[in-house]
Amino acid sequence: MLELTDVTKEYKVGGQVVRALDGVSLRIEPGQFTAIVGPSGSGKSTLLHLLGALDSPGTGSIRFQGAEIGGLDDDRQSEFRRHRVGFIFQFFNLLPTLSAWENVAIPKLLDGTGLRKAKPRALELLDLVGLADRAEHRPAELSGGQMQRVAVARALIMDPPLILADEPTGNLDSKTGASILELLGDITRQGNSVVMVTHDMGAVRYCDRLVTLRDGKIRSNERVEHTDNGE
Ligand code: ADP
Ligand code: ADP
Repeated sequence: MLELTDVTKEYKVGGQVVRALDGVSLRIEPGQFTAIVGPSGSGKSTLLHLLGALDSPGTGSIRFQGAEIGGLDDDRQSEFRRHRVGFIFQFFNLLPTLSAWENVAIPKLLDGTGLRKAKPRALELLDLVGLADRAEHRPAELSGGQMQRVAVARALIMDPPLILADEPTGNLDSKTGASILELLGDITRQGNSVVMVTHDMGAVRYCDRLVTLRDGKIRSNERVEHTDNGE
């Protein structure tokens, strides 16, 4: 689905050049749940931004379903993000004045679909994430775990093949976090790919692959072995 080949990304800060990613090659398969871990400053956010076409690589190639996305202009990048990627954030990024279902529908509105028309699918997705009875609640009336479920539903409404999650459990207690990770696991079993940046090593056991970054380089990329003795 996604293939990065020898990707390098540098930032210029004052007169200094910071190499945030250095020769990164990586494949993300359909239906795969990938965790990206590494110390602060190792390049995790930069990598996630490149995967989501929020930024362009300096050198190297990023192919999505065979097509190069590394060098797209701004319009095509935003088109790619709108239709191919769903984003999930640590602090949920819900709009406080909108109800849960309206928050889920936002990407459809931005794409020109009317609120009424988007509603049935938004309600369906809230049902999928276990919040059918919270559709009219505003974010302030929901728990943290429920807000993240709304964000997961919002990430799914355009049917994107790729979901990118930046510390999705970083603001949740471990039990609530685990239920969000299970939900993301379920999503990958429907064929979506999920790539998650996390500091939480406990989150890794919900994933299929573990990629470790250090100093902008991939230090390891391994399959996660699952034991069958449940939780
Ligand atoms: P992580 O997410 O693992 O903490 P980042 O990708 O945020 O790592 O950062 C990797 C390196 O790139 C760090 O040295 C950071 O300071 C630098 N960096 C990241 N974003 C920018 C930016 N917009 N401008 C300048 N330097 C940046
Ligand atoms: P959880 O146990 O799922 O983490 P909470 O204990 O925070 O959730 O909340 C329990 C229930 O109360 C939830 O179903 C939620 O909808 C509701 N709730 C939470 N916070 C508020 C609030 N500020 N106003 C109204 N209802 C709330």
